[in-house]
Amino acid sequence: MPNPLRNLPAVNAVLDHPDVKSLFGDVSRAQVTGCVRTVLNRLRDQAQKASGDKPANALESAVVQTVQAVHRLKLQRLNGVVNATGIVLHTNLGRAILSDSAIMRLVLATRATNVELDLQSGRRSRRGAHAEELLRELTGASSALIVNNCAAATMLALQGVAVGREVIISRGQLVEIGGGFRLPEVFEAAGVILREVGTANRTRVEDYERAISDNTGAILRVHRSNFRVSGFVAEPTAAELVTLARKHDLPMIDDLGSGCLTSLAPLGLDEPDVAGSLKSKADLVLFSGDKLLGGPQAGILIGQAAWIERLRKHPMARAIRVCKLTLAALEATLEEHLSGDAFETIPVLSMLSMPAEAVRGRCEYVVGALSDLGLDLSVVACESEVGGGSLADQRIASFAVRISGVQPDKFVKSLRTGEVVILGRIEDGAVLLDLRSVRPHDDTILVEEIQRAVREPRRTDE
Ligand SMILES: *Cc1c(COP(=O)(O)O)cnc(C)c1O
Repeated sequence: MPNPLRNLPAVNAVLDHPDVKSLFGDVSRAQVTGCVRTVLNRLRDQAQKASGDKPANALESAVVQTVQAVHRLKLQRLNGVVNATGIVLHTNLGRAILSDSAIMRLVLATRATNVELDLQSGRRSRRGAHAEELLRELTGASSALIVNNCAAATMLALQGVAVGREVIISRGQLVEIGGGFRLPEVFEAAGVILREVGTANRTRVEDYERAISDNTGAILRVHRSNFRVSGFVAEPTAAELVTLARKHDLPMIDDLGSGCLTSLAPLGLDEPDVAGSLKSKADLVLFSGDKLLGGPQAGILIGQAAWIERLRKHPMARAIRVCKLTLAALEATLEEHLSGDAFETIPVLSMLSMPAEAVRGRCEYVVGALSDLGLDLSVVACESEVGGGSLADQRIASFAVRISGVQPDKFVKSLRTGEVVILGRIEDGAVLLDLRSVRPHDDTILVEEIQRAVREPRRTDE
């Protein structure tokens, strides 16, 4: 009986192979060694099952499989990816991509930084004070507070303002935001009592008024970010709710979600903006940092100083405070909004406002650059989405590179598992790469990765 394991290479023999050696650096030797051991164990099992058959060139298989295993390992990391899905704020891809200046400022803040030190006086300062100052300047609100995300801002506002009491909300606004963030559960976790009024499609001011009692703590309005109701619908405006709240000495909390600081009406997009909410005199206005604001993940509360100061002192505020990296990126993003060129410098806004013809030109460049690959390529009209639970149902005219004549699932996987990860979508049996959500900078990378996907389609196979 020949020993089926005799031909298996030693761990060091695999590690010494040039193809494996070249992996060190980006991945530690220890991690590569782990991959080699896994691969050799698998080859050993296979050899034992097929007893008698000598594995053909075991060293070569071990090397190829190790390279693939290391590549799979790298794909588990948080990688930079090129978003060609056409969904500008893609929740699975981390929503807003940061501007160049936000990235630079974030990197600077990775070192020791004056996050709680006033450099002028040398005294301790309040974390977030400068970003809050920028928010006041931008919005005209009297106070601001920054926390980890908008879900946390909602929890803090409910608990800090109305714990143990009823908060009134329209049945049409009892939404699930996504990621399991369902308002009735948020109420429960925040320790406030849900008092729903009206119906799914129609709620009137009188419905709110009838529900007000001695135990009412606040009125909450939540923007239905991720779906639309149409037809026989009605609900009070923010201003009407504020008037009612004032009459009963209650605060009105307005959860806007997307945080649109500059009106998108010139782009033909209809999304409530922060200015409108403040104009209605809502006591607290809540929104995210990484949706239409175009910055890092954060939850922003602005409004009446008395309420904000009360929330700032709440123990939960400490638990959901924001990190220095976020603050650095947020400061830079807010400064860009203040500068007046937000539509040029903030990627989310420049992507949303890029004329469809400009996207088409970029698609034509990509198709031209790939013309010698033998792929069936064309430039097709398509529709992009804002995403991130903003502007449900509203589409933006765009263009995409269409790749047909390939097996779409395989081609998409190959792009998704490349050296640089490219994400597209499949439509009508073809691969579509919508360039609206791609940084123009990355167009050449996209070209190189498509070339690579054609040359070496299988990079992670077992
Ligand atoms: C997105 C959204 C939230 C949650 O914001 P995060 O920053 O993701 O926590 C809350 N409320 C509304 C209305 C939203 O659109």
